[in-house]
Amino acid sequence: MREYIEEKIKNTTRHFKFGNIAVYQDTENNSTDYSPIFKTLEKSFPSHFFRDLKGVEIAHRKEFDDRNISALYKDDWLYLSDQQDGLEDLLDDLVHEMAHHIETTNSDLIYSDGDIKKEFLSKRKRLEFELNTEGYWTDEYNFSDVQYNREMDNFLYKRVGPNMLRMATANDFIRPYGSISLREYFATGFEAYYLGKKDLLFKLCPVLYNKIDELHNL
Ligand SMILES: [Zn+2]
Repeated sequence: MREYIEEKIKNTTRHFKFGNIAVYQDTENNSTDYSPIFKTLEKSFPSHFFRDLKGVEIAHRKEFDDRNISALYKDDWLYLSDQQDGLEDLLDDLVHEMAHHIETTNSDLIYSDGDIKKEFLSKRKRLEFELNTEGYWTDEYNFSDVQYNREMDNFLYKRVGPNMLRMATANDFIRPYGSISLREYFATGFEAYYLGKKDLLFKLCPVLYNKIDELHNL
């Protein structure tokens, strides 16, 4: 029995490298070869981005269903769902979670001068103003809290809703999700930098752009 299980695990796991990091892909339910995505992306990243990253797993996790997400960064690991709509989707998730790795391992360099926070808060202020103009009452929400909080998430995504949020954030954020917290502001900017929207990032979020550029050239 044990041999059977070990054999099965061996046969349903694809192994490859991302930088010098081991990637484990569970191919039992999805045998798409994602390794070319990793190979392409590793050429875009400086080698120090892989520092302190322990591994990457592409597999199903219960948390993905529970929290309605398809990827997460935890304990120096990147976890990606094996149920992706396509290569692009996996690439988006990979770059996004890589951003969380970078902002965790370089948090002093990124956040300690307070510049990105200042840029984020000025955008939050305009967002609140926009929403007030559209008739939304925002007094019970703290728009100067940069941390993720569920109340703000529910307000923006459920009360305001994706369409209005898209309109209200279009001139300030790479995508609406970047308005949810400072960490997601960084992560969505990082996506833009590495996924072909550098010019837009420079235009909308110059402080964030310069910080990512500094990290890239460390
Ligand atoms: Zn995120």
